[in-house]
Amino acid sequence: QSAPAPDYLIGLNPEQRQAVVTTEGPLLVLAGAGTGKTRVLTTRIAHILATGLAFPSQILAVTFTNKAAREMKERVGMLVGGAVEGMPWLGTFHSIGVKLLRRHAELVGLRSDFTILDTDDVVRLIKQLIQAEGLDDKRWPARQFAQMIDGWKNKGMAPHEIPEGDARAFANGKGRELYEAYQNRLKTLNACDFGDLLCHPIRMLRANPDVLADYHRKFKYLLVDEYQDTNTAQYMWLRLLAQRPQSKEPGQRGGSVNVCCVGDDDQSIYGWRGAEVDNILRFDKDFPGATIIRLERNYRSTEHILGAAGHLIAHNEGRLGKTLFTEQSDPEHEKVQVHAAWDSEEEARAVGETIEQLQRPDANGRRHNLNDMAILVRASFQMREFEDRFVTMGLNYRVIGGPRFYERQEIRDAMAYFRAVCQPADDLAFERIVNVPKRGLGDATIRQLHDYARARDIPMIAAARDLVETEELKPKARKSLRDVVEGFTRWSAALENTPHTELAERILEESGYTEMWQNDKSAEAPGRLENLKELIRSMDFYESMRGFLEHVALVMDAEQNEDMDAVSIMTLHSAKGLEFETVFLPGWEEGLFPHQRSLDEGGRSGLEEERRLAYVGLTRAKKRAHLWFVSNRRIHGLWQSTIPSRFLDELPEAHVEVAEAEMSYGGYNRFGGGSSGFSAGRQNPYGASRFDNPEIFASTYETPGWKRAQANRTDATSRNWGSRSGHQVERVGY
Ligand code: ATP
Ligand code: MG
Repeated sequence: QSAPAPDYLIGLNPEQRQAVVTTEGPLLVLAGAGTGKTRVLTTRIAHILATGLAFPSQILAVTFTNKAAREMKERVGMLVGGAVEGMPWLGTFHSIGVKLLRRHAELVGLRSDFTILDTDDVVRLIKQLIQAEGLDDKRWPARQFAQMIDGWKNKGMAPHEIPEGDARAFANGKGRELYEAYQNRLKTLNACDFGDLLCHPIRMLRANPDVLADYHRKFKYLLVDEYQDTNTAQYMWLRLLAQRPQSKEPGQRGGSVNVCCVGDDDQSIYGWRGAEVDNILRFDKDFPGATIIRLERNYRSTEHILGAAGHLIAHNEGRLGKTLFTEQSDPEHEKVQVHAAWDSEEEARAVGETIEQLQRPDANGRRHNLNDMAILVRASFQMREFEDRFVTMGLNYRVIGGPRFYERQEIRDAMAYFRAVCQPADDLAFERIVNVPKRGLGDATIRQLHDYARARDIPMIAAARDLVETEELKPKARKSLRDVVEGFTRWSAALENTPHTELAERILEESGYTEMWQNDKSAEAPGRLENLKELIRSMDFYESMRGFLEHVALVMDAEQNEDMDAVSIMTLHSAKGLEFETVFLPGWEEGLFPHQRSLDEGGRSGLEEERRLAYVGLTRAKKRAHLWFVSNRRIHGLWQSTIPSRFLDELPEAHVEVAEAEMSYGGYNRFGGGSSGFSAGRQNPYGASRFDNPEIFASTYETPGWKRAQANRTDATSRNWGSRSGHQVERVGY
């Protein structure tokens, strides 16, 4: 080589460098976590720009989140020195889809100012269509159909393309008709749903070869991160853009454009949302002449973290298998720590203490930033305990990839009920839930309530109480409103003499709110029910419903700004691609992780996807990984002893250590699952001694009596509430 390597190539290893400079022809980088795949993509863009192979507008780059897109843009800017004048085609599949559609809306029968509907809008629309067909929307729930449509759209299927069986399965064989009616309705409304952002561009490009040819000329380079999680529609879309007709231009191989995908089959975690890991496995068939580069050096994690993660994922069958090594080896490095706690409250407290310890200067005077720490949970309801704890401690935190616990829709709805019961003058709360679940109280009725209340200067609920005694409302509205009013009268009366958690449960039951989510067939519904249960559970720690409401008001007030130093809390799913010095992984228990639902619905492949999720979680850590399991969780309002996750059993002894009990571990063996290994009844690679060692789990103080009492408590009401939620529980379940 004659010229010295440009700055951006310095420091890359030979394989990474090859992946950056092999700009022509299809290229797949298939490599494990932390090997620099994303870095290669970023550097590749910088290289293309720096060498003048293309302008920014001629590069199409797909990331998994909008945040990742922003970061990539910034990094490219830094690498090429100075601002890149925009990278208009860098974004998620959806955001790029919107852009394409705005340009060519008329080709799919829309106007360029079309609106994008959210899930609630979609469900409302479908419900109208179901009713218009004269079908019973209780028997054929709109949410379920919305879910089906989404599934079809993830596969890129138009109404005439859906499988016969699917079409028959819904609404007495009217599935296809309804889907078609729905699409027509969207067109009339000049609107599209999320799935359309993928499907419309596909159809538009297929039907308009001239437009497609324009894009073939335009995009000289295509790049895709997290390729293992693309779904069929995204894949079709990519292929359309990538497979230009045979080109006579020099440098073009196999008739396909310069497409570079990077991914890791072991990190495919969106199968439940239609992602097809097969896309990555057959890349070289789809793009003949593809170069495949493997990266094997991990730059992110210590030998212990990598060793633990590698050993764990080796339990999956049907992997491509990859070598991973790190040169970060040092006797000083901490092994992966496994901790036990009595329950989730103690888990949160102990994590909080570890964080405080890390913040104190260590022997070298080094303090750890909160920004370098993350808590990765399996299910969003787990966040509540940590958020509460951190607020109490005054520790900054932020929730990534979703609202904070108390900001979630179902939590806000439930809180609105509670607020309206405790403070009848809280019109905002009352208005939020007066028609949730739907009770046929339309805008007109609400307006009537408003007017009446304003004219007399009384709260809306008082207005409602008056109005149901008059002839002013339509009979149906009057009946519904009367039910609501009576509910609130009953609940307010019970406020002083009923235990507040019991009352809270009753309110959600009697108002039909819980039932609304139980009948909901969308993918989010079970999670929402879990969150509601967690909400009730958390009320236990407060004296009264009012006390609890005050607490939440304070939590909600906690600052959440981008710049502050703060611990991140997020689900494992949203942690993909990220990295942190220290990662806390709570809740490694059977039924929670692996999640019961995945086991029930996905069987073996469900379990393997859970294991990949565990692999993703562990490999987010650079220096420290702390795993937790608790001996008791309150499930469906009932304390149950839990069994440590099988994934703990699958960790290699050489890289893992069971943390000394620094604090109040309740004594897993004494009160808990009563097993002698991480998990009862399964083979324990360490022999029984590991968890029988009294030194390890000796509690430094007795477990408080109230906790034991709670652990043994059975609560008939709670049990009913849980068992109606649709998923049955054996030992432990979520
Ligand atoms: P994941 O599979 O988790 O998405 P990845 O393969 O995309 O991981 P990156 O996030 O690109 O990996 O890189 C992991 C870390 O290693 C980053 O901090 C990155 O800056 C660093 N890294 C990558 N390559 C090198 C290198 N050649 N020298 C030093 N550090 C590197
Ligand atoms: Mg990455």
